Amino acid sequence: MALSPSLIAVTRGLRGRCPACGKGQLFMAYLKQAPACSVCGAATGEIAAEDGPPWLTVLFLGPLLAALTFISARHEAWPLWIRLGGLGTFAILAVLVMLPRVKGGLIGVLWGMRARD
Ligand SMILES: [Zn+2]
Repeated sequence: MALSPSLIAVTRGLRGRCPACGKGQLFMAYLKQAPACSVCGAATGEIAAEDGPPWLTVLFLGPLLAALTFISARHEAWPLWIRLGGLGTFAILAVLVMLPRVKGGLIGVLWGMRARD
C-alpha cells in the first residue's frame, strides 16, 4: 500500500527528517529548525509551527498523565515522594521526548498542505 505524499511528509517530520526528501535533518538544535534541508535544499525553515507543538503535546500527554495520577493515588502504600517524584520525572521526560517529534510531525503536515497548493 502506497502512502500519500502528505502522510509521507508527516512520517518524515516525526522522525526529525526533511519532509521533502526524508534525508536531511529538520532541526539544527533541540527545537531550532534548520533554515533549509542540507540534502535537497527545501526551505523547511520557512514553515512556522508556532504554538501548535506544545499545544498538541499537552493534548496527547494530559489524559495519560491524569490517568497515571489517579492510578498512583490508589497505591497509598508507596511513599508520596516516590509517587510524585516518579510522576513528575516521567512527565518531564515524556514532554522532552515528545515535543520535537510533535513539532516535526506538524511541520510535515504543514509541508504536505503547502505541497498540494
Ligand atoms: Zn530535504
